[in-house]
Amino acid sequence: MDFSTYLKNYPNAEGRFGKFGGAYLPEKLIPAFEEITQAYLTICHSSQFVNELRRIRREFQGRPTPVYHCERISRKLGNCQIYLKREDLNHTGAHKLNHCMGEGLLAKFMGKKRIIAETGAGQHGVALATAAAFFGLECTIYMGEVDIAKQAPNVARMKILGANVVPVTHGLKTLKEAVDAAFEDYLENYKETIYCIGSAVGPHPFPLMVRDFQTIVGIEAREQFKDMMGFLPDVVTACVGGGSNSIGMFVPFLNDPVEIVGVEPLGRGEKMGDHAASMTYGSEGVMHGFDSIMLKDENGDPAPVYSVASGLDYPSVGPEHAFLREAGRVKYDSVTDEEAIDAFFKLSRYEGIIPALESAHAVAYAMRRAKEMKTGSILVNLSGRGDKDLDYVIEHYGLGEEYKDF
Ligand SMILES: *Cc1c(COP(=O)(O)O)cnc(C)c1O
Repeated sequence: MDFSTYLKNYPNAEGRFGKFGGAYLPEKLIPAFEEITQAYLTICHSSQFVNELRRIRREFQGRPTPVYHCERISRKLGNCQIYLKREDLNHTGAHKLNHCMGEGLLAKFMGKKRIIAETGAGQHGVALATAAAFFGLECTIYMGEVDIAKQAPNVARMKILGANVVPVTHGLKTLKEAVDAAFEDYLENYKETIYCIGSAVGPHPFPLMVRDFQTIVGIEAREQFKDMMGFLPDVVTACVGGGSNSIGMFVPFLNDPVEIVGVEPLGRGEKMGDHAASMTYGSEGVMHGFDSIMLKDENGDPAPVYSVASGLDYPSVGPEHAFLREAGRVKYDSVTDEEAIDAFFKLSRYEGIIPALESAHAVAYAMRRAKEMKTGSILVNLSGRGDKDLDYVIEHYGLGEEYKDF
């Protein structure tokens, strides 16, 4: 496949990456998504939009984020050098703000007054509430009552940022019900509202838009690495939940002689319900409005999923990932909870960087590969910082005192 013209050709006008992607929507929402698609395809070429987004990234988000050489960890593992793209230093502490600011700016350009979303652990809700505050948009976040009880600090953050957090009280009171509630709201209110999806998933144009807004990560990282080293890394890697931080990191490297690997959560093991490794154990199907690879239960419904990293426990993956694997361009591997926790403590202790548990999956993979490769270099997208995970880690794994002699 020719990747020099990739961005022009994928997705096609129907939002397809090969056979994956598309838009499977209730009749009533087809015009709303069509409106967003048309607006985005026009606005993304306007210099006013592009310049405004550039200014926001520089002045509000603090971009570009640096690329950092993990000298101590690399030395301990052998002679292969690990580098991190520091999305943990992006404003709000993770990559999610990259697409939320893009979606907010699009809402503003379209004259919408309101942005809405669902959230599970609350990370997407916080990033979107931040964008809403910045742009002066109303913001409603749907969240399962069970998740609200578990994620009190993120709920407080959203409220302080001015968002209206609506508890969802039916069914299991978690993410799935929150998605339904957000869709119902959107059906009622799409004239003044945009429903902002939190990853490179969902119906067209979201996988396209989120990908485009996140490619700043890979564009910067590629240039920064080349400036530092004079060549490109041998391996580029990132963790994959829905697939936004990874697709943003990967796409700018597609046309380079670089091995690209997405890292999925293997959780407690390979039994259904113990992991969220959709690419490894899933099969093709349609859910949440798009065609991709997904984990299904015996009835063909979305399977129960689990990961120590709540941002990775999604039973599918963005359609572009399914396509890039089928095209043989990107490989997918997986990392257990145990390996991710080990990487969490090692990166903290030996580099002074406490990573998000999601990002720790990518770091764990890089450490495993560095040992095998012995030479060369690996560039990891460190998607976020770990402050949000401290209480959980301390309660379940302690303070990592056993890591003194790594
Ligand atoms: C949400 C989240 C992820 C997973 O989402 P993707 O869309 O797969 O990037 C990864 N890392 C962090 C820090 C997150 O908050």
